[in-house]
Parts: sequence; C-alpha cells; structure tokens
Amino acid sequence: MQTYNSLITKQKSFFRTDTTKDVAYRLEALQKLRIAIKNNEKKLMDALKADLNKSEFDSYSTEIGIVLEELRFTIKHLRSWVKPKRVKTPITHIGSKSFIFSEPYGVTLIIAPWNYPFQLAIAPLIGAIAAGNCAVIKPSELTPKTSEVLGELISDLFPEEYISVVQGGVETSQALLNEKFDYIFFTGSVPVGKVIMEAAAKNLTPVTLELGGKSPCIVHEDANIKLTAKRIAWGKFTNAGQTCIAPDYLYLHKKIKDQFLIEFKKATIELYGEKPLNNVHFTRIVSDKHFQRLCSFLDNGELFMGGDSNQENLMIEPTVLTNITWDDQIMQDEIFGPILPVLEYDVLSEVLEGIHRHPKPLSLYLFTENNNVQQEVVNSVSFGGGCINDTVYHFVSPYLPFGGVGNSGIGAYHGKGNFDTFSHQKSVLKQTTLFDIPFRYPNMKNGLNKIKLFLK
Ligand code: NAD
Repeated sequence: MQTYNSLITKQKSFFRTDTTKDVAYRLEALQKLRIAIKNNEKKLMDALKADLNKSEFDSYSTEIGIVLEELRFTIKHLRSWVKPKRVKTPITHIGSKSFIFSEPYGVTLIIAPWNYPFQLAIAPLIGAIAAGNCAVIKPSELTPKTSEVLGELISDLFPEEYISVVQGGVETSQALLNEKFDYIFFTGSVPVGKVIMEAAAKNLTPVTLELGGKSPCIVHEDANIKLTAKRIAWGKFTNAGQTCIAPDYLYLHKKIKDQFLIEFKKATIELYGEKPLNNVHFTRIVSDKHFQRLCSFLDNGELFMGGDSNQENLMIEPTVLTNITWDDQIMQDEIFGPILPVLEYDVLSEVLEGIHRHPKPLSLYLFTENNNVQQEVVNSVSFGGGCINDTVYHFVSPYLPFGGVGNSGIGAYHGKGNFDTFSHQKSVLKQTTLFDIPFRYPNMKNGLNKIKLFLK
C-alpha cells in the first residue's frame, strides 16, 4: 500500500515554520483561491456536467457560488476572528488577565464525498486555511472530472507542503488515515464515518464528521400548501435528491394530504417540466450501483407521481410514493435520490414518536403557521439543524453553524463556525509578579478557613 508519510512530514515541517499562522499569508491564500475559482468557473461547470449532469445554474448556486460567498465572508471577518479574546478573570485570580488564543491544529485531512464534490471539499478548506493550518484533501473517486479540476486548481495555487490534493478511492483514504494528522474533517456516510472515527481514535486525532441520515419533513394541517409544495419540491429534487439535507421523507397531515399532493405535482412540473427524463438540466444519479439501489424502492407503497427511469443515462424522475409505513424498504436507510415517500398522521404525537424511534436526523423541516407546534417540535426532537416553513436554506447562512448530532455527525462549520472548527481554543492566564496572594499555598495560616471563603 502506498504511504503518504513523506507528504505529511513535509507539511508538518512547513507548519513548524509558522508561515501559515501569519494572517496576511492566510488572507492571500484565500484571495488567490477566490480568484482561481472565478477564473476556472467554466472548467468546473463542465466537469460537474460530465460527472453528474449538473446544470450551470445548479453548479453555480450549489457549488461555486456557495464557496465564493464563504470565501468573501471569511476574508471580510478573518482579522477580527484571529484576535486573542480577552475574557473575565475571577476574584480568586486577582492580579492576572485571561486570554483565549485561536491556534491552528497543524496538518489537517479533509475527505469529501461525491454529491457536491467541489463545494464539500473547498468549504472546509476555507476553514482550514483561515485558521492557519496545512491541508491534505481527498476528493471523491466517484466524480473523477471534478476531482481532477480541483486537483489542478490547488496544485497551481499552492505548494504541496501547504495544501495538497490526493486522488484515489477507499484504499487511498485508508492509507491517509494511517498517518497521524492533527485534525480530520470528514463528509460522507454514517458507516464510513465510523471507520474514520476509529482510525482517528488510534492517534487521538480530533474529528468533525459531517454525515447523513433520514431527514424528516413535516407538513401540518395549517401549512401554506402551495408555497410548502414548491419549497419541498425544490429541496428534495435539487441534485436529484442527492443532498445530505434533502427532505428524506414526508409526514403529511391527513386533512391536507390530497390537496398537498396535487400542489406538489404541479410545483414539480413547474420546476422540472412534464418529462424530467428529457430535461437536459436534471441531475443524474452518480453511479449504476446507486441507480439500481434507488430503482429497487419504486415498488414500495403506491406510486402517486413519477416512477420512470432511464438506465442508459442514469436518470430517475421525481417520484412520490404514498401509503408508506416505517416497515417499507425505502424507510430503512437514507434514500439519497429523487424519491419521496409519504407517511400520514392525525396527531403530532404520532410524528414525534416515529422520529424518536430512529437516529437523530441531520435536518428537520416543519411547515406550519402554529407557534405552539413549532415550539413543540423544536423542543422535542434533536436534529442537526433545519428550517421552519422552508427546506435546505439554513445551510447557506454563514451565521448558522452547520452539522449533525448523534448518528448524523459531530461538530459543525460554515462562517465563523468553520474557523472555530479548525482552531484549538488555547486559554492563557497572564499572572502578575508584583504581588503573590498566599491563600493557595498549604502553609498559609488558617488556610482551610480562608480558602473556603473563596471556593464555596
Ligand atoms: P462515502 O462515505 O461513501 O464516501 C465519502 C468519502 O470517504 C469518499 O472520499 C470515499 O473515497 C471515502 N471512503 C469511502 N469508504 C471508505 C472507507 N471504508 N475508509 C475510508 N474512506 C472511505 O459517502 P458518499 O457516498 O461519497 O456520500 C454520500 C453520503 O455523504 C451520504 O450519506 C450523505 O448524507 C453524506 N453527506 C453528508 C453531508 C453533510 O454535510 N453532513 C454532505 C454531503 C454528503
């Protein structure tokens, strides 16, 4: 098996020069990255088209534009984020001052998935650079064209001892995991997340795990049906449902079920046309294996809309399945495709009970105008993040840290959260030498009584 020991050793030596800690160096790297992404926009769009049939609109809005915005925000705020924070000092520490320094971990590993192959490799890289780290990126082997453009872009910009892209599949990832990194940032599936954490544990390497799972979408009886239908159709079918935070399944209130489904069909046709399989802008399924897996769900429940597929170009129509129960095959795992199963409910407690019986989801979406229902769901269910009366949109706010909880992940990023994720918070107490308060010392007269005055 190939080893990456010499690459990691080079990065470690480079990190020890403290070059990457210089804020001007970090800002220059971020600026260079921003310009290069803009200059390579067409190349990236062509690669994303070849790998996943992504349209230019989708490539820009969900991959290129998102990282440009993350870069703009980070460049704007970095100088204030890097400043040591002065914090309060308790009376017991009189004479001293307290600071928190955000220091880079060192050499970091970023492992990315295929569904947003550019964005999910570059967004964490922005955090790694901003925080002053070196980085090795392992992009997905399932989107080879995009991974290639990404590799060229990075090697043109940065020396390998600073930032390097390593191409390859599972074996490459495992060979990298045999090395000792200072931080590992992984985006991918739950089972592989466990493999990553196990490998990291051997070196006590801290991790962020951005994982997946089944994200529920609840449509309550008082929801604004037309708008709800449009927002769910968009969140579910963008990227052909291959989005970690896409609504995985619907919990639909029985009272509005029929009306909602009619509006949902209309909204889907408006967004993707009467014949989505002929729509040149509709994203395809990444591989034959995933295509077969998804097609095996099509006989679950009852087909309400869609259901057609084209094996030659790996496309599946936006599909809705009704009369679904938790026992159906489609409800056993994350779907990750353009198929939406519908569960029905009468009272909210059925929904909460159903969600509680399963692992904590990455996202949750709730459509209702009722504040009490909103509060009840947000208080009762643990989930990574989500929206009330929308889908997916929370992901693109730099003020909302993005990440999972429980099975859907560990840690979060985006905006300042991205910088924080790649920084260790180093606490430093700066003590005076002008005097020395005696009560901590064991030889102080009446020491126990005195210390009890302070520590109570
Ligand atoms: P994956 O876990 O199969 O692969 C992710 C990365 O890990 C790839 O680079 C792959 O080469 C590597 N890898 C695969 N098997 C490995 C192993 N045994 N040991 C070491 N490395 C290995 O995930 P995927 O299929 O690329 O992506 C889809 C999954 O990612 C879905 O579950 C989705 O929900 C999740 N996801 C999560 C987020 C998020 O931000 N939380 C974003 C996108 C995707």
